[in-house]
Amino acid sequence: MNPHSVFCPNPDCPSRGQVGNGNIGIKSQKERRYVCKTCGKSFAETKGTPLFGLKRAHSLFFVIVTLLAYGCPPQAIVAAFGLDERTVFAWQKKAGRHCEQVHQALVEQPRDLEHVQADEIRAKLANKVVIWMAMAIQVTTRLWLGGVLSVHRDQRLIDRLAAHVKACALPRPLLLATDGLASYVSAWRKAFRTPIYTGKPGRPSLLAWPGLVIGQVIKRHHAKRLVEVEARLVQGDESQRQALSLPDQKLHSSYIERINATFRAHLHGLVRRGRALYRQEPTLQTGMYLVGTFYNFCTCHDSLRQHGPGGGRKWVERTPAMAAGLTDHCWSGAELLTYKVAPSPWEPPKKRGRKPKQVCPPAAVAA
Ligand SMILES: [Zn+2]
Repeated sequence: MNPHSVFCPNPDCPSRGQVGNGNIGIKSQKERRYVCKTCGKSFAETKGTPLFGLKRAHSLFFVIVTLLAYGCPPQAIVAAFGLDERTVFAWQKKAGRHCEQVHQALVEQPRDLEHVQADEIRAKLANKVVIWMAMAIQVTTRLWLGGVLSVHRDQRLIDRLAAHVKACALPRPLLLATDGLASYVSAWRKAFRTPIYTGKPGRPSLLAWPGLVIGQVIKRHHAKRLVEVEARLVQGDESQRQALSLPDQKLHSSYIERINATFRAHLHGLVRRGRALYRQEPTLQTGMYLVGTFYNFCTCHDSLRQHGPGGGRKWVERTPAMAAGLTDHCWSGAELLTYKVAPSPWEPPKKRGRKPKQVCPPAAVAA
C-alpha cells in the first residue's frame, strides 16, 4: 500500500483528487483501507474501480473481463470457469462503465486530430429492435474517439457523435470523412463552432472553425456487390484535404470500416446472424466502451509500430493511446481496470442570497 499514489475519493472533501499532498494515511493494512486526514473518512483501496465490493479473486475478474473484451462468448466463459451467466454479464457491465469513465478522463481531451472518420453500425437486439451505433476514429493515431447508440439513425444520433468528437478536438485544420448520410454535414458544421463572448447580454455569436474540410465517401452496390465509389468534398478544397491526409491518398473511409469490423468481431452481440444477441441497449453501451478502451490502451497496432532506437529490425510496438501521447507503454487489462479517475478539484460552495449591508463607521455618521 502506497499512500503517496492515492487520492481521497470523497466528493465533499477539500483535498479530493489530490495525489502526493500528504493527506492520505494507512488505516488498516489487513483490511487494505486508507484514511484521509483532511475529511477524516476512510476508504477501501479498490474504491473507484470495478473491483470495489467484489467477492471473487481479482485475478479471475481480470481474466474474465479481458476475455470478454477480445470477443470470447460468455457461454464459453460459463462453461470454462463454472461461473453464473448473470455474474459474467454483471462484470462486463461493471468493467464497461469503468472504461467509459477512463475514456472520458483521458481520451476526451482536446488535441490536434487532423483526420477523423465516422460511421454507423446496424445492430439487432434479441427482441428484434434495431440499434444504430455511431463511432469515430482519429486516423493518424487509430485512436477510437467514442461512440453513441440510438434506435433511430437520425440527426440526434449524429449530433451526439459530433459532440464527442468536438470534445477530443482543438480548433485546428481538420478533415472529417464519413459516408453519404446527409446528417453528418449539418452535425459537423453545427458542432465545430466556438462562441465569441463580447460581454454584451444575450447569446454569443458562434464562429465556425477555420480549416474544416468535410468529405463524403458514397459506395453504391448492385446485387450485394460494390460497383462504384464516389468521393466528394462538401466543404474545403482538394489542397486542404491533401495537407491533412497521407500523401497520394484519396478520400476514403477504410479506417473506420476496419474498426467497425473489430467491434463486430469483439462484441458477440454485433454478429449479423446469431443466437447470442444482446437483450438490452445498456449492455451494448457498456460492451462498446469495454472493447473500445481495450483497443485504445491494451492493443498494439501493427501499422503504428516504429523503428527501435538502435534501428535495424527491432521494432517498438505501440497502442493508439501511445501514438496519441496519452501513455508511454501498453497497458495490461489489470492496469486499465485498476486505473482510478480523479475527481475534479474541490471548489468552495458559492455564497447565496444578498450581500450583508455595509455598516458606516461611527466617525463618518458623526461628520
Ligand atoms: Zn478527504
